[in-house]
Amino acid sequence: MRIDLHCHSTASDGTDTPAELVRNAGAAGLDVVALTDHDTTRGYAEALAALPAGLTLVTGAELSCRLDGVGLHMLAYLFDPEEPELLSERELVRDDRVPRAQAMIANLQELGVPVTWEQVERIAAGGSVGRPHIATALVELGVVRSVSDAFTTEWLADGGRAYVEKHESDPFEMIRLVKAAGGVTVFAHPAASKRGQTVPESAIAELAAAGLDGIEVDHMDHEPATRARLRGLAGELGLLPTGSSDYHGSRKTCVLGEFTTDPEIYGEITRRATGAFPVPGAGGGAGR
Ligand code: AMP
Ligand code: ZN
Ligand code: FE
Ligand code: FE
Repeated sequence: MRIDLHCHSTASDGTDTPAELVRNAGAAGLDVVALTDHDTTRGYAEALAALPAGLTLVTGAELSCRLDGVGLHMLAYLFDPEEPELLSERELVRDDRVPRAQAMIANLQELGVPVTWEQVERIAAGGSVGRPHIATALVELGVVRSVSDAFTTEWLADGGRAYVEKHESDPFEMIRLVKAAGGVTVFAHPAASKRGQTVPESAIAELAAAGLDGIEVDHMDHEPATRARLRGLAGELGLLPTGSSDYHGSRKTCVLGEFTTDPEIYGEITRRATGAFPVPGAGGGAGR
């Protein structure tokens, strides 16, 4: 079983539509894929409608949170997407991304970059708008050579010249809300230090005590030594260790299934969840 529990579509800052994502996941030989767009589940219906035989779809989202001034991402799986309290928090965070992107565009214009909201809006194409869309605009304008080259303090990195904070949720509150909506939480790439500041292990312990279910251990932004340390920490704290690609289509270099989650860990995630259930593609299911 190959299980990839962290993927983005055009519903946020991935470049595959939700339908393309599940087709590509099937073609990549995955058995299970989770759709985890930033602060939204809007891609789910389209992904479900296009789900190929033999591939199981897990609904989810990657929630933008902040703890003691440090941004962090919380993966949430198999919660009830209609649960009103969690839905309104997701929409608050997602909607605030628009004025925040506009403020970053204004900063870039002051720095002499001729980027416009119209350009970024076209690139985001209705998805949850984020820095990777602005970074794509900077690539189009020839300001930087790649999306990742825009994530420096010269441009869009945390604290960078054009950076603006967005509304981010309290992770303790999100653990509570996701659980109340029948879902499971996994702290995404907790030690991805090249993206900016990360939280200390003591904070992961506090989140675990508050009901966090797991941590993403195997991720492209974790060195092998970091993965080993996180696997040990998961063991100490009773957290489920996961692995995933954090696939973003052509906007990032990682490929579907680059890292995967152990079937036993995935089984435990599905046993804990009551808000939604994994859906096998038509004709699949047997023996999976
Ligand atoms: P935002 O949610 O708008 O603040 O943008 C954050 C997103 O940008 C993350 O979820 C990543 O997908 C992407 N990102 C963050 N740091 C980098 C980086 N160094 N290189 C490429 N993409 C990055
Ligand atoms: Zn992203
Ligand atoms: Fe993330
Ligand atoms: Fe992600």
